[in-house]
Formats: sequence, C-alpha cells, structure tokens
Amino acid sequence: MEQQKIDEILEKNNIVDVISNYFPLKKSGSNFKTRCPFHDEKTASFIVSEKKQIFKCFGCGKGGNVITFVRDYEKISFFEALKKLAKRAGISVKETKVSKKKRSKRDLIYKIYSLSVGFYQKNLKDYGDQTLEYLKDRKISTQTIDKFQIGYALNSYAGLKNFLIKNQINSKILKETGLFTSNNKDLFRNRLMFPIHDHSGRVVAFGGRVLHKDQPGGKYVNSPTTVIYKKGSELYGFNVTKYEVSKKDNVLICEGYTDFLRLYESGFKNAVASLGTSLTDDQIKLVSRFTKNFYILYDGDKAGKKAALRAAANISKFGYSVKIVLFNEDEDPDNFLLSHGKKELEKKIAEAKSLSRFLNDDAVLGLNTKTKLSSLIGILNDYQDEISKELFIKEISEVFGVSQKAIFSKLKKKYPIRSTRTNEENTDLAKYEEEKNFLIALVNNRLNHKKVAQEIDSTYFLKEIHKDVFEYLMKNNNYMDNMSVLLDKVDDEKTQNTLAEFILQESQISDADDMINGLKIRKLHINLQKINQKIQQDKDNDEYYKKKDQIKKEIIKLNKKVVSKTLY
Ligand code: ZN
Repeated sequence: MEQQKIDEILEKNNIVDVISNYFPLKKSGSNFKTRCPFHDEKTASFIVSEKKQIFKCFGCGKGGNVITFVRDYEKISFFEALKKLAKRAGISVKETKVSKKKRSKRDLIYKIYSLSVGFYQKNLKDYGDQTLEYLKDRKISTQTIDKFQIGYALNSYAGLKNFLIKNQINSKILKETGLFTSNNKDLFRNRLMFPIHDHSGRVVAFGGRVLHKDQPGGKYVNSPTTVIYKKGSELYGFNVTKYEVSKKDNVLICEGYTDFLRLYESGFKNAVASLGTSLTDDQIKLVSRFTKNFYILYDGDKAGKKAALRAAANISKFGYSVKIVLFNEDEDPDNFLLSHGKKELEKKIAEAKSLSRFLNDDAVLGLNTKTKLSSLIGILNDYQDEISKELFIKEISEVFGVSQKAIFSKLKKKYPIRSTRTNEENTDLAKYEEEKNFLIALVNNRLNHKKVAQEIDSTYFLKEIHKDVFEYLMKNNNYMDNMSVLLDKVDDEKTQNTLAEFILQESQISDADDMINGLKIRKLHINLQKINQKIQQDKDNDEYYKKKDQIKKEIIKLNKKVVSKTLY
C-alpha cells in the first residue's frame, strides 16, 4: 500500500474513537487512560494520546499507533488492520504485490486444508467401515462425527496428493502444507483423522490416530508447524464450544480428542482439549477472552496428575481461577463417563479442588509436605498479579496450616533475584538517562534534525535499543513531523514500543546545542578512557599520547561552549 494511503487512513481514524469502540477510555489530564487490554492489571497504565495519536502501556511496554492497536487487539495481520480501518473511514484500498503474494499463499494453504478435510470425510463414508466401527464402539454418534468433521486417511502414499493435484493444486506448494513427508508422500496413512480448527473455525492442522495397535508410526501423528498453524496455539473443539464456554463462564479442559468428544456427546458443551499435556500460555490467553474460570480434567494416572498440576500452575499465575477434577488412577473423562454417566461427573466437577488442596491431599505423586510447599512457592514466584498472589498465599496458609509470614519469607529467601534485578535496572536507567532525554527531545521536535544528523551518529549511544531508535529516526527524518506515520514504518517491535514510549513523554530540554554537546562530551570521555587503557598496555606509543591530548582539547572546547552559555 502506498504511504499516502496509509497516511490518509491514519488521518481519518482518530485513535481515541477507534479504541473507544472496543472498550471505554477515561480522560486523564491531556491523555486517556484505562486498564491494559494486552496484559492483566488491576490499575490503569494504558495511555492513549489524542494529540500524538498513539497508545502506550507503561505496564507491559506495548505501544504503537491506531493500526498496530487494531492489529494486536484483533489478532489480525497488519494489512487486515489497515483494510479494516480504511473501511471504517470510507477509504478504498488495493494490496501491494508482496502482501498479496503472502496472503494468497496463506489462503491457498487454508484452501488445501479445507479440500483435505472434505477428502478425509468422504473416505470415511466410502472406505472407512473399520474406522466407523471403531467410532461406534466408542459410542461417538454420527452427528458428532459430522460436527467435528472426523475423517479417514486411506492406506496409500499418494491418496491425498493425487486428490489435490486433481483439484488444480500446484504440486510445488504441497511441501509447505505439512501434509506430506519430506519425500512427498502422504503424511497420514490409514488413520482416523481429527481436524484441528482455529477458533474462527478454519481447519489448520490434523491429528491422525492409528486403528490397530501394531500399526507403525506411533499412536498419533500430528501436523507440524506451518504458516497457518503453530503447535500449542489452538485448542481442540474450541471453535464449536467457545460460545457455551462464555455463557457458562467456565471451561472444562481435557487432554485429548476422545475425552473431548465423550464430554461433548454427554452434554458438556463447554469443553476443550489441550492436545498434549502442557497447556500453553497462548491457549490460556485464548480461553481467557471467553472465561477466567478453568477446570482441569486430565487423566487420573501419575502423568496426568503431574500435567494437571503444571496446567493449573500455568493458569493461576495469570490470576485466573482453576480447579482440578480428581479421577482414580485408571480413569479418564472418557471411560469415567462411559461407566458412571453424566450426573456422576457433574458431582466430581462440583467437588473439584484448588491447586493447593489438590496438592495437599494427593498421594499419587508421592511428594512429602515440604516438597509440596516448596513447589507451591515456586508457582507463587511466577504470579503476575500482587493481589492474586496474596490470596494464594492465604489459601496455602489455610490448607497447609503454616503462617502467611512463613510463606512470605520462604518466597523471599528462595527467589531474591527479582529485587536485585530492579536495582540493576535503576542504575542502568541513570546511566542511559542522558541519551534517552536526547531521543525524547528529538522525537518531540525540540532539536534540529539536520543539525543532529550532521553532528551525531549512532555510536554516540550506549544502549542498543537507543542506537536502533536513533538510526531509525535518522533514516526516516522526513517523517519527523508526523510521529504516527513514523511509528508505522518500524518493522521491529522493540524499536516500535520504545519509540512510542519516547513520543508520549514531554521533553524537558530547552537548549538543543547543549544536548548535542552533552552527548559529544560523553563520547569523548569514553574515548579518553579507552586511550588511557591503551597507554597502560603500550606506554611508548607516541600516537596514543597525541590522541589523548587532542581529545582533552576537544573536551575543554566543548565544555567552554556549554559553560559560556549558562553564564550569559
Ligand atoms: Zn500492558
């Protein structure tokens, strides 16, 4: 898209109006303020500046302009965000060749997955007698099979390949779909196929289960990461159950496909499967948009219990409510429902235990009280929210009968790193204050860009991110009067966030020359130190002494300039 178009989109979409459409903003001085939508917080540190047309969270560091906000909040691509905003402002847009190419590739892979699902579903009807028998044995109904688009992969090395080629799919793209082996054979052969949908309902991956125990290749074969799928980013069944999750305001998380299908069949329509036993942060965040109350229904064996503990720890560090449903060692949700029925599981869910109670009561994992307590303290250390942390400490204290004070001091003793790290950060801040102030003045148009470009380069900055920001600013200095446009052109997220932070700060500096001279003097002092070190190593080198004198003279000259200014 042309820069002109982007400028127009930025101009016609006031960031305050756009963000206000998503959630309310509160006026605070000359800015607007609210709780950050990108991280969990109790006090508002998300600032929106109408004047500067940017946002910045002083809690998690995220910042940008109206386009990056829509991109990150809606979890869509940059171009999709642009299109959305263009539409909002009534501006027509065309795609650039590059973005079109990229998008059309993703679209093509989506299309291939959608064709493949249809192919596997048809195979199940035409050739899947054995598979259907297996599903019938497991009491999975035809409606559920259809609803979750369950299928069958033929016992063939080229079944899917030939089908796709027949459907005008260019064979070159096949190796990027994750559906074929490195030597171009079908990855899934003679398997029961569970399509994995993203939460908006598009098929993005498959899990293929064996039909016989002695079949080669493992019980499950799963899709690898592709341009449309990242492992651990989706939850099985969530595209169907997310509305019910939201309505019930809680979610039942189980391990695998069959547990999920059994739960769904039995009327638990607020379930999902984590697919694998480690519940990732991405998965938790995805669900937390619909509910913040989690129930873990993992297998009752040792591995399942360990996994449940890890999942619960992961959820609770965000401050969300989590309870673990207890099964006997040989039970999982699937076989429990088959032998005991829905009512009994409802009872179990009502009796589910909090993390500390689960751990306190557990005998399967074979941990002693001391180990249990110290693993809970380890979990506590990951807590992101102080209030949830305190509530958790209170609960541990009640469950284990130890004082809150004892837990606090154990936590401090075991994990003292946090406080020292903050001290280091503070001294860093002081060290880099000067160059930071310089950049703040620069982005707030307090300095003459041309003059700065002539006299200073990125070697004057000590902190890497400051170097990056400065280089970026100098490269794009014809946009300096429109910071919102400037923000937009950054492709590195860290630079973008730092730049947004600087734009939002008021510059205290009144004299541009002093600032430039300040940085110059600092660099000369550093050079002086370096030359002194060299002299230490090589005392007879005249060149070094000459250089040292020269640096000293320059420092004196610059200092005089600064001093004379303050005197008169
Ligand atoms: Zn934030």
